[in-house]
Amino acid sequence: SGIVSKNFIEQIIEKDIKEGHCTTVVTRFPPEPNGYLHIGHAKSILLNNGLAKEYGGRFNLRFDDTNPTKEKTEFVESIIADVKWIGGDYEDRLFFASDYFDQMYEGAVKLIKKGKAYVCDLTAEEIREYRGTLTEPGKESPYRNRTLEENLRLFEEMKDGRYEDGSKVLRAKIDMASPNINMRDPIIYRIARMTHHNTGDKWCIYPMYDFAHPIEDAIEGVTHSICTLEFEDHRPLYDWVVTELEYENPPRQIEFAKLYLTNVITGKRYIKKLVEEGIVDGWDDPRLVSISALRRRGFTPESIKMFMELCGVSKSQSSVDYPMLEYCIREDLKLKKPRVMAVLDPVKLVITNYPEDMTEFMEVSNNQENEEMGSRQVAFGRELYIDREDFKIDPPRKYFRLFPGNEVRLMNAYFVTCTGYVTDENGVVTEVQATYDPKTRSGSGFNERKVKGTIHWVDAKTSVKAEVRLYENIVDEEKGVYNEDGSLNLNPNSITVLKDCRIEHSVSEAKSYDSFQFLRHGYFCVDSKDSAKDNLVFNRIVSLKSSYKP
Ligand code: ATP
Ligand code: MG
Ligand code: MG
Repeated sequence: SGIVSKNFIEQIIEKDIKEGHCTTVVTRFPPEPNGYLHIGHAKSILLNNGLAKEYGGRFNLRFDDTNPTKEKTEFVESIIADVKWIGGDYEDRLFFASDYFDQMYEGAVKLIKKGKAYVCDLTAEEIREYRGTLTEPGKESPYRNRTLEENLRLFEEMKDGRYEDGSKVLRAKIDMASPNINMRDPIIYRIARMTHHNTGDKWCIYPMYDFAHPIEDAIEGVTHSICTLEFEDHRPLYDWVVTELEYENPPRQIEFAKLYLTNVITGKRYIKKLVEEGIVDGWDDPRLVSISALRRRGFTPESIKMFMELCGVSKSQSSVDYPMLEYCIREDLKLKKPRVMAVLDPVKLVITNYPEDMTEFMEVSNNQENEEMGSRQVAFGRELYIDREDFKIDPPRKYFRLFPGNEVRLMNAYFVTCTGYVTDENGVVTEVQATYDPKTRSGSGFNERKVKGTIHWVDAKTSVKAEVRLYENIVDEEKGVYNEDGSLNLNPNSITVLKDCRIEHSVSEAKSYDSFQFLRHGYFCVDSKDSAKDNLVFNRIVSLKSSYKP
């Protein structure tokens, strides 16, 4: 058996367990309910959930809803659905940070009583000026030495609504000369008259993220608070808060590098614009990488998990190529999904020596690489459809598919020889004609001669009509993601809609999220938004060819 090396977070956790800093592992995923989750969040969910499982611990879903300006209840629901779908099983451990507002307030009072926090009347701009720079120490606020009594009274009055928004803040009293600017008396409470989705108008003061987050973790008994690298400089403040509030088993913050994927858009601002301008069909447009978009496109939780495992966990920023994600979904679907025949750009093929009203059924394996999936009966008749690109009047060199005089194998059926074709007034082929050789029926053991080309087909009478949508990346990083004016340089071919596809009858009962391999074309998934029983719509998840080598 191979030795799987532990990632750096696992190493920290194992050391903490060994040294007795914790007896169990508690992790959390703490989204702000201000947008839809994307593939980066999936990484955080799977990482945190995976660690809890690995060490027999617990995993919490906690809405970090302490900032009422941007939060919406609608996002709470979509986030819950996405977390569940991706496999972030939190059982009944669903929490809202806003439920802890009372404890946060008490924490602030405790700091004041310890002489570790004060009410400051400087304006926001003054506070910024006083804070100093990387090379210059900050300056102390003239309000820094207010008495405990005065601070307690003023903070209570702030809470009671006695002061205007922005006129006072509560600041931690740490060190204005600290080389870490986050430690220069950071603001921990502000006055803001905003209605909160959970607590309504109960509060007119709200805690700042750096003060609230460690308290949330500590209240829930989180042992390892995993976040992304941009919070590394905030860790001393995180530690300061849990130490000064004297939590018994303080949580520990660990940072890892965000997941970046090439040729995709994750910025909320840009997606919002694409949605508003109707360039994409909502937040779950299959070209996006929100979790709901990936689900709609036909990605599976298993494929996303495999992807995250391949990416690994690291402390250094890098971006991962999109084809690696495609590799994972191919691997996941390869042995699980039926392989069916679908003609995306149909042209009629008439077998002129086949009886007019006859239909026969071919026994076709559902998945040639997984015999356990059994077989099905596929109708064959005199009139078929084949893909337009499988016929050429004047074939280029090394073209082994249909052209006048050439013989090919119709996959799972007979050998046919092209005998003619019909074109319209523009020279467009409207019908291809061929004769079949009854001796060559698939499964008959015929081996008197071989042909070089094999093409797929569907029976004209029984096949179902469908719409198929093909996708390319929405942006191309090599060509530049942004134009000079800062707008997105969108790929004009990011979607191709094929309205008159023909698919073998076996897919006629397909439901939302069902997926198939369409032989020679790739993997396709029934669109959950637009597909209907008599108007099937498929999204191509991924083609069969890969540019990624594992
Ligand atoms: P975005 O602005 O892209 O929505 P965010 O950081 O504002 O991201 P939060 O709701 O604060 O989103 O994130 C919840 C959790 O997901 C945080 O712990 C955050 O670190 C993590 N997270 C966000 N983006 C990524 C990413 N690209 N890779 C890994 N983890 C991420
Ligand atoms: Mg967010
Ligand atoms: Mg955030």
